Amino acid sequence: MSFEIKIWGCRGSIPVATPENIRFGGSTACVELSIKRQTVIIDAGSGIRELGTQILARGTNQAHLLLSHGHYDHLMGLPFFSPVYDRGMKLDIWSGHTGGNPCTRDILAGFMKEPYLPVTIDIMCANMSFHDIKAGSVLDLGHGITATSAPTNHPGGCLAWRVDSDDRSFVYLSDHEHGNEAIDVALVKFARGADLMVYDAMYTDEEYEKRKGFGHSTWRQACKVAKAAEVKELLLFHHAPERTDRALESIEAQAHKLFAGASAARDGQIIKLD
Ligand SMILES: [Zn+2]
Ligand SMILES: [Zn+2]
Repeated sequence: MSFEIKIWGCRGSIPVATPENIRFGGSTACVELSIKRQTVIIDAGSGIRELGTQILARGTNQAHLLLSHGHYDHLMGLPFFSPVYDRGMKLDIWSGHTGGNPCTRDILAGFMKEPYLPVTIDIMCANMSFHDIKAGSVLDLGHGITATSAPTNHPGGCLAWRVDSDDRSFVYLSDHEHGNEAIDVALVKFARGADLMVYDAMYTDEEYEKRKGFGHSTWRQACKVAKAAEVKELLLFHHAPERTDRALESIEAQAHKLFAGASAARDGQIIKLD
């Protein structure tokens, strides 16, 4: 049994690269799960570019890509993900109809066209399958790996993902604004007992007051959810573009006091679930 998580992009909204945030990293949302030699990727933010290079170097020829939603910071890396141009690659892409969004293929085709990009989805010659799922349905990804989704509170709709294998579990809960009680309660239930939860901790409490309705949460709320759901470890995720390494270290220290298993996600970080 092996279950390893690698953070390829932990930043929210837009990639950043300045000397002040280089340690936590500036690539946008992308997380890779390696479970029993299977590859499951969550979101295709700019961090997926580097993952693509690794996947080809490793000789991996099959992967699942679970998408939370269609915002650019979660999709922008896909045209730069080399495996999509490899005929030997089989890629299953899953996303949910949330908030009246178009189907998975249309979400991707819609942002990959002139005048935005010269590369269209038809140029991608990998063996790609597009799956539209309903939130809450349990996906069997084979090898005893299951993926479940739940709606979050986010403009246009978004899915949280939970991946289970044997008795290990990982929860990806990004792009969610707390405050809708029914959704909050459902998400605590959804994340219950996870070994690791990644959570949208974009704002401080002060920032949140000015950005209500933007669809994001706070690091303090992340700790509350982690406690309520009794997860073992919490990674603060979707860092604001302007958040410096020093600011993140300070947030991490404060979060650690509220929830002992809390830390801030870093690009390149690997967590093994033993
Ligand atoms: Zn986002
Ligand atoms: Zn979003």
